[in-house]
Amino acid sequence: MEARTAAAYDGNALAGPLADVFAVEMTTATGRCHGCGTSSELATFRVYGPDPGFVGRCPECESVLIRIVRTPDAMWLDLSGMSAVRISMSADSSATAHLT
Ligand SMILES: [Zn+2]
Repeated sequence: MEARTAAAYDGNALAGPLADVFAVEMTTATGRCHGCGTSSELATFRVYGPDPGFVGRCPECESVLIRIVRTPDAMWLDLSGMSAVRISMSADSSATAHLT
């Protein structure tokens, strides 16, 4: 695959990598930016990558919200740019994942 690091994609580019980690649809999850406090659907993040990994930035202030890097034997997931992540769940298993 050709390395693409200069162009920005929308947050839907993170669907595949996140599907490897989470068993739910993550592009509709909402993340709260640690920098500006804006809550945005993951699908609206500005995404750069895929090499050497994916970086998702806040659509409001461009702060780094998420980093995903795959190595031959592991996946590194950095969510430190988000103060919280809200993941919609079905009524029988409601849950919200909070970080920090
Ligand atoms: Zn922000």
